[in-house]
Amino acid sequence: MNDEMEAFRAEVRAWLEANCPLSMRRPIVPEEMVWSGSKLQFQTEDQRLWFERMRDRGWFAPGWPVEYGGGGLDPRRQRVLEQEMARLGCRQPQYNLGVWMLGPVLLEFGTEAQKREHLIPMMQGRTRWCQGFSEPNAGSDLASLRTSARHVQDEEGEAYIVNGSKIWTSYGDQSDWMYALVRTDAGARKQEGISFLLIDMSSPGVSVKPIELISGKSSFCEVFFDDVRVPARHLVGPRGGGWAVAKQLLQHERAAMSKFTEGSAPSHDALALARACLVDEDGAPREPVLRDGLARLLMDEQAFSLTHRRVKEMALAGQDVSGPAAIMKLVQTEQEAAKYEFLTQLLGQRALGWEGEEFTRDELEVCRAWLLSKTYMIAGGSSEVQLNIIAKRVLGLPE
Ligand SMILES: Cc1cc2nc3c(=O)[nH]c(=O)nc-3n(C[C@H](O)[C@H](O)[C@H](O)COP(=O)(O)OP(=O)(O)OC[C@H]3O[C@@H](n4cnc5c(N)ncnc54)[C@H](O)[C@@H]3O)c2cc1C
Repeated sequence: MNDEMEAFRAEVRAWLEANCPLSMRRPIVPEEMVWSGSKLQFQTEDQRLWFERMRDRGWFAPGWPVEYGGGGLDPRRQRVLEQEMARLGCRQPQYNLGVWMLGPVLLEFGTEAQKREHLIPMMQGRTRWCQGFSEPNAGSDLASLRTSARHVQDEEGEAYIVNGSKIWTSYGDQSDWMYALVRTDAGARKQEGISFLLIDMSSPGVSVKPIELISGKSSFCEVFFDDVRVPARHLVGPRGGGWAVAKQLLQHERAAMSKFTEGSAPSHDALALARACLVDEDGAPREPVLRDGLARLLMDEQAFSLTHRRVKEMALAGQDVSGPAAIMKLVQTEQEAAKYEFLTQLLGQRALGWEGEEFTRDELEVCRAWLLSKTYMIAGGSSEVQLNIIAKRVLGLPE
């Protein structure tokens, strides 16, 4: 078996060496991320080549079955591919909520027809998906959502008529499809009246309004549904069974968040920057109290990275890692924020520049990364809510 795995490793290594363009081996920055979908655009020929080669190999989702466009690799081979990509510093060839979050739940809960209709275009990079969960009065308390989907059976067939709105929909204006939670039974208990529906964003009655933030343009949108007709074949799981699908999807979201941070990570190494601030012109250490803070952050980072590797191995061995995943989402996002709080403390006003030639590129990036780090503690479940989940489901504490 080991020989077989070593042969596979050699094959992967040779393929990556031959097929990953050199410019695709540099750390990625947000503006160079390639988002799949009908609006897909490449800025360089290398981006296109890397995208097409990985797509054709089925390595957008190496573990998915080949018949849906995946790579059909078993967990050990997936791990080898990940290791070899990391060794060369290969970028992700594309970013797509569909592949990370919806795809795995369609594989688990979808019908054969749904898998064929949605997984294949997703794997060809032709459709972009957004997430329609949050509503103005349903964020942490998601089960309070009110967007309704009325079941109808008429001359046009069986369908759901959707009315209501979603908020904080990331990239709603760029997406082709939305996976959404809707209320199909207003009389049932909160969670039991919710269904999971796939909505074509070009359907009549869907309108999207981008949200402006204090920093100007943002990826957030509001999405409004006005008598939107959704064919019943787009219901995933049983009617009223959407909560179980959503819970599973949120686990994939939390796992995928490490990829977001990777993709939108600034090109600087925050702790290396901090270290440079803590020596004087002659290289002698200064500020003992702050150096203590840096040492703590470095130790935390090392401990997290080792834990991450261990949990990944457990997942590949088929063990249930939902508990550790909930803890890691909390710890990782809190650590990221702590790192940038520390840097802003060190750089003072220089960390607060938004634009201008008086700031270095690193300083401008620190400001953006500091603000961004706060959003990770909210997206995919806020830290407080995450603590509640850990208390209840992982530690088994009473309500
Ligand atoms: C970067 C980013 C991207 C996002 N993308 C999407 C997206 O694509 N699609 C989508 O549907 N949503 C998206 N969201 C929304 C996100 O899911 C919600 O913001 C999140 O669930 C929190 O809900 P809320 O904003 O309504 O805050 P609230 O639920 O109103 O919470 C407000 C505060 O109260 C605290 N709180 C709430 N309940 C409790 C409790 N029981 N115990 C203790 N404290 C509590 C929270 O921790 C928080 O600090 C995104 C958010 C961010 C920041």
